[in-house]
Amino acid sequence: MGKRYYCDYCDRSFQDNMHNRKKHLNGVQHHRSKKAWFDNFRDAAAILAEEQTKKPCRKFIQTGQCVFGSSCRFSHMTKKDIDDLKRQIEAERQRKEDPDAAWKSPERNVDDWLSRREKRKAALDSGSILKEEEEEAATGSDVPPHFLSIPDLPVSLLPPPPGGWKNVPQAEWG
Ligand SMILES: [Zn+2]
Ligand SMILES: [Zn+2]
Repeated sequence: MGKRYYCDYCDRSFQDNMHNRKKHLNGVQHHRSKKAWFDNFRDAAAILAEEQTKKPCRKFIQTGQCVFGSSCRFSHMTKKDIDDLKRQIEAERQRKEDPDAAWKSPERNVDDWLSRREKRKAALDSGSILKEEEEEAATGSDVPPHFLSIPDLPVSLLPPPPGGWKNVPQAEWG
């Protein structure tokens, strides 16, 4: 028993030799599977554009089946498929325009963080926060406490002291 060649696209295996491999890789079935696989990664807009240049496949509409499958030169898309595709395109477009939409969870919203920081700063500046609260606000800040206690860090890696740098520390760079 020799080695077996497994084709991921077609999800099938056969005895691995030059002849079988060549025959398989040039086969219609393999080309179809491969195209279908890569079609998964095309964006919806490209698929829609291509589908709209095709005439509907009569065979597919009448019987719900067509031997040509995804390589048919006529369109197998129903009205609903097209609508789904259009919705998908809309979603992709929004994702592109607002790439960090996916990151917008409460913990990861930078805008939120910045506006909270702004408010805190404004409150400090206007003196509406008392001294102790200021201290607390500063030490309860963004630097996790265990980072403040790592010994012998180079200056460039030191976290800012509570309340931020008073003035830029002098460092001998060598
Ligand atoms: Zn194959
Ligand atoms: Zn067809």
